[in-house]
Amino acid sequence: MDACLTLPSGNSYLFDGASYGRWNVDGVCDASGVSVAENWRGLWGDRVDAGVYWGFGKAYFFRDGEFTRYDLDRDEADYVRPIAEGWQGLPASGIDAAVNWLNGKIYIFSGPNYWRWDIPLDRLDPDYPRAIAGAWNGLWPEGVDAGFYPGGRHAYFIRGQVVRTYDVLTDQVVAEGALAHLRLEALPVGLVAPTRGLSREQAAQLAIYLANEGRFSFKDAWTALRRGPDGKILSLDPTRNVTLEPARVGAVDLVNVIAPASTVCDNLDPRMLVALEKLSRWINAGTANVSAIRHLGIGHGQGASNDCHNQGRALDLAGLSGDWEGTAFTRMVKADWGLQPETTSGFRIDPAADPIGHDLFRRAYGFGTYECECRTGNAWPPTEIGDGGFVICPDYVADTPANQKLRRDHNDHIHMQVGPTHG
Ligand SMILES: [Zn+2]
Repeated sequence: MDACLTLPSGNSYLFDGASYGRWNVDGVCDASGVSVAENWRGLWGDRVDAGVYWGFGKAYFFRDGEFTRYDLDRDEADYVRPIAEGWQGLPASGIDAAVNWLNGKIYIFSGPNYWRWDIPLDRLDPDYPRAIAGAWNGLWPEGVDAGFYPGGRHAYFIRGQVVRTYDVLTDQVVAEGALAHLRLEALPVGLVAPTRGLSREQAAQLAIYLANEGRFSFKDAWTALRRGPDGKILSLDPTRNVTLEPARVGAVDLVNVIAPASTVCDNLDPRMLVALEKLSRWINAGTANVSAIRHLGIGHGQGASNDCHNQGRALDLAGLSGDWEGTAFTRMVKADWGLQPETTSGFRIDPAADPIGHDLFRRAYGFGTYECECRTGNAWPPTEIGDGGFVICPDYVADTPANQKLRRDHNDHIHMQVGPTHG
């Protein structure tokens, strides 16, 4: 196998020479031996080295010393360029595999080494390459041929005719099998898709999956769900908002700064719940170990009843706490960003003066643009930190009186939402 990737549809594509096979969300192969040349316009038709879904309807493929960007909406390749021109710091040639870990990072494998690419910063993380050996428990230390992550509990890596199943939660290989009999974990649709593109029905199915995986717990009395005899959730009414108790996603507490004693996070649109679970992984993908998101309200707000806050579709992120290489930290948007001296460069937090705040707030902002509403039409590329759009922060663009007011009103939080401002 040469290259594999999972697309937002949930289908996984496995490329082998001039043909590919497709595995659907039920985990079974429903097409095999299909011609690459006839179905991937403009892509190398006889072989690719690696492929990865990026976001915003774009995938990248690598071959020898070049890469191509594939536009999934137009269903054709945009261009071909040398790897060194688009992926600075990677080997100039010989990429074996690229895997989107769905937390703002892409892992790229070449021989016995791997690199980590930061999606919102669009650059390689420092301190790479590293050796596969010792970092990827149970993977082949000499390298992989291909790898892909469909967004559930497991990623899959292939070498020769063997597939190893990698548990992303416990960080280890948990199974091995023959490629000829490959069957994937059955998953709900939407784990790879941006959260803003989900329907409420899809988000409800994802919420059932994530809750049954232990990623969060519902307050049953306030949530329209049905459980089986084993306690697993069987169904969730997609037309109703849900309540978490405790107010936590993954290992991250959702601390309401206005009502810190609250044990619940209520009136959550299922799409915002899916976004919060993903955010808990994005903010923990770097050096920081984030244990709390401090917010100014999720599921509640002022103004009209159809406002995205009142409908449970918006987050006002006011701060983050946790530890950074063993030292506890709290960074608040107001004190550490909004009240800092303004600059003309866009993002006023100086990375030299406050590396933690710079890293975390840039990551949270990047999450907002990649997963929530970005700019009108959600057009590529996503906004820079001070650009106009639906993710609003202390450095929001100040080009009009209306935007200047938005900037002032958001000097203590980053606003992000799924769906329109007024639903
Ligand atoms: Zn807001």
